[in-house]
Amino acid sequence: MKVMKVQQMSHHVVFIMLAAAVQCQVNPEMCRYPLGMTGGQIQDEYISASSHWSESTAARFGRLDLDNGDGDGAWCPDIMSEPDGLKEYLQVDLRSLHFITLVGTQGRHADGMGNEFAQRYRIKYSRDGSNWVGWHDRKGRQVIEGNRNAYDVVLKDLEPPIIARYVRFMPVTDHSMIVCMRVELYGCQWLDGLMSYSIPEGHQMIYRGLDVYFNDSVYDGSSAERLTKGLGQLTDGTWGLDDFLHSHIYGMWPGYDYLGWNNKSLPKGYVEMIFEFDRVRNFTSMKVHCNNMFSRGVRMFRQATCYFRSGSDWESDPVTFRPEVDRISQGARFITVPLGDRTASAIKCRFHFSDVWMLLSEVAFQSGSAVYNTSLTSRKHGHPTNLLPGEDPTHKVDDSNTRILIGCLVAIIAILLAIIVIILWRQVWQKMLEKASRRLLDNELSARLAVQTRAFSSLHSSLTSDSGSTSNSTYERIFPLCSDYQEPSRLIRKLPEFAQSMEHLGPSISSRALASSGLDGAPHYAEADIISLQESADSYSIAAVNMNLFAGTDSSMREFPRHKLTFKEKLGEGQFGEVHLCEAEGMQDFLDEDLSIEGNNESPLLVAVKTLREDANKNARNDFLKEIRIMSRLRDPNIVRLLAVCVDTDPLCMITEYMENGDLNQFLCMLRLKESADEDKSRPEEKEGESMVSYSKLIGMAVQIASGMKYLSSLNFVHRDLATRNCLVGKNYTIKIADFGMSRNLYRGDYYRIQGRAVLPIRWMSWESILLGKFTMASDVWAFGVTLWEIMTLCKKQPYSQLSDEQVIENTGEFFRDQGKQVYLPKPLCCPDRVYNDLMLSCWRRNAKQRPSFQDIHTQLMESLA
Ligand code: AMP
Repeated sequence: MKVMKVQQMSHHVVFIMLAAAVQCQVNPEMCRYPLGMTGGQIQDEYISASSHWSESTAARFGRLDLDNGDGDGAWCPDIMSEPDGLKEYLQVDLRSLHFITLVGTQGRHADGMGNEFAQRYRIKYSRDGSNWVGWHDRKGRQVIEGNRNAYDVVLKDLEPPIIARYVRFMPVTDHSMIVCMRVELYGCQWLDGLMSYSIPEGHQMIYRGLDVYFNDSVYDGSSAERLTKGLGQLTDGTWGLDDFLHSHIYGMWPGYDYLGWNNKSLPKGYVEMIFEFDRVRNFTSMKVHCNNMFSRGVRMFRQATCYFRSGSDWESDPVTFRPEVDRISQGARFITVPLGDRTASAIKCRFHFSDVWMLLSEVAFQSGSAVYNTSLTSRKHGHPTNLLPGEDPTHKVDDSNTRILIGCLVAIIAILLAIIVIILWRQVWQKMLEKASRRLLDNELSARLAVQTRAFSSLHSSLTSDSGSTSNSTYERIFPLCSDYQEPSRLIRKLPEFAQSMEHLGPSISSRALASSGLDGAPHYAEADIISLQESADSYSIAAVNMNLFAGTDSSMREFPRHKLTFKEKLGEGQFGEVHLCEAEGMQDFLDEDLSIEGNNESPLLVAVKTLREDANKNARNDFLKEIRIMSRLRDPNIVRLLAVCVDTDPLCMITEYMENGDLNQFLCMLRLKESADEDKSRPEEKEGESMVSYSKLIGMAVQIASGMKYLSSLNFVHRDLATRNCLVGKNYTIKIADFGMSRNLYRGDYYRIQGRAVLPIRWMSWESILLGKFTMASDVWAFGVTLWEIMTLCKKQPYSQLSDEQVIENTGEFFRDQGKQVYLPKPLCCPDRVYNDLMLSCWRRNAKQRPSFQDIHTQLMESLA
């Protein structure tokens, strides 16, 4: 990455140096300055998008990030809102016309956690904001090959370049993965101000049996009889060779570089061109690049007559210019047509033939301060081509322009030096900061984790001897229903050696902790949610969530008429309120076609209705709405489906499919394992007693959870609370993941670092989630390992049931220190060595990157079933 950075810097420097050498001239090889996405010159308000996946992936985050260090943000469209995904775009408004020669794209890497990028994309552009043109290369290909990974910047030359104010990046996606983009445009301002030209379509020459096409193949306007309202080859910065037959050296057909007309096809004896500009300008000159290969019947024009228009009518007094006829040199050249400081917003020029053919390849205008000067250097030959007829190409030097050139050079070199100094200074400063913060973190962790060896070794021995003692929590329970959730920060603070470093986390924590504890010292779950502190920047006000909920993201989530729900029984109670079994009349109309709920032809349908308790505070309400928002996007056979909602009035309700067998924890608790796994396999299913379950059934359940998690991870969702209690069981051992109250998608800068009071399921959490507040797909994998352990032990015990909550935290410290003293959950009796060693233990690897993905887990489990 560092190498790339240096390379890119040196590219910039080279570009700037080259640009300096050729002055401020539109020349595609020089005009390659970053236009302000990276540097921030383009303000947020000028970056927009068709949609975004979440607030943290809004358009304004779509800036290419050359530093690659802290880059998390990116623009990610909400592909779900646009089923074909083809209309999604990130739009940059450059505020004025620019000549754009290069684009850069990058994915979202988020310090190695993100993996979204656009493998292919298209570009659309507009000069006026209303007429949009799809860019295509010189061979007509529209799709640009984009990124191959989430971090590298991929630069693509635009051949032909674009002249535009607005540019849209449109990822091409097959809808199978989320795409995210960060972009930059490179080029320079389009000083000509030329918005369009109108010309007769070019003709075809047959030269000694060879077809030579002189059409404008990159013209972006309309092409009926004449080409109108567009720009094309005359402004693409590519000027033709002396021998017009030789353009095929670029892989294009002979004559490609030129627009050409045959005298015989235009009886008036001239080619009329109309040039429209962005505003009224004061024109000093026009440069026209002409071919003069008279041995093949091609000559530069003999006369140019230009008319001017500022309002609606053409002025009657044209400017006429007759260049000297060059009968000696056949070299192509720029001819400067003086325009006499005429004021106009449109110019109509008639170029008169002096031979059978007239070929032009480029036209440029100089007006007011936006003067083009003499440095139009041939890209192909490297010699000056702005010669008047008869002049010696080797001696052409324009004194006044040379002075300007030198002035420009000096100024640019000075700016360049200043930029280099600033960049170097920034890098050194950043490195110092990084080092300092790393040192701080290390110190902090070491301090926090300086666990008394004696205390822990006694813990270690108590564990290894499997004393079987049960958890004796001295800490308040957060959930009315279970003790699976604890507040790690409080636990850490309880240990004397941790107390100091916890204070270091700031007064906000303790004051918040105090403030949010309820009367009975048992705070409401949502109040204690660590996310509430960090997501203030997400601007999830209740109104906003309510509004957004059904607007852009998922229009299919419909409001269900509350009166059509009939209460049957209470199914359970969760963090938000009660869950009821209800009959829903007319629910069939709300079901997606892909949803096969047994009996969905009958009316009414049994559904589970989760209701937000009436006294819920703002945070709980907000989280409830967030859970709806998240669930409404999820469509997978192993994820509980949200069917409809009642959010028009209070109490808020979400209606989900009913899972007959309740949560997996309770379900497994009531079962017993069949003695021999082998024996199970040979027995028919129906012989299993109701309270018996086979090993293969257990693995089958784990496979389903892994499959659901695989889907979630493909969307970059982190569940954060995977456990058997949060999985539901339907008919025939169908398992679906539920409870998205704690899940968040990963599009955030700092991954929910614990800054406040956290009430978390510490026995299911990875060490980095507890100590660093880092929740990632890899920490979900850790939780999956624990969930698998629960399944294999039929939920007979809580994980680490011998450990108190403090000891669980201490054990977490051992995972961090990695001195071999960490204690793993023991191998469940029915669990084969292979599943325990290769799968379960791999989920608890210290290095998050070495843990398997859900894809790997799913495959491994499937294999173990075979
Ligand atoms: P929750 O608030 O999602 O944690 O739900 C609390 C309890 O209600 C769960 O532990 C389940 O026993 C029950 N429950 C929730 N959703 C459903 C459902 N869709 N079908 C059946 N039971 C459910």
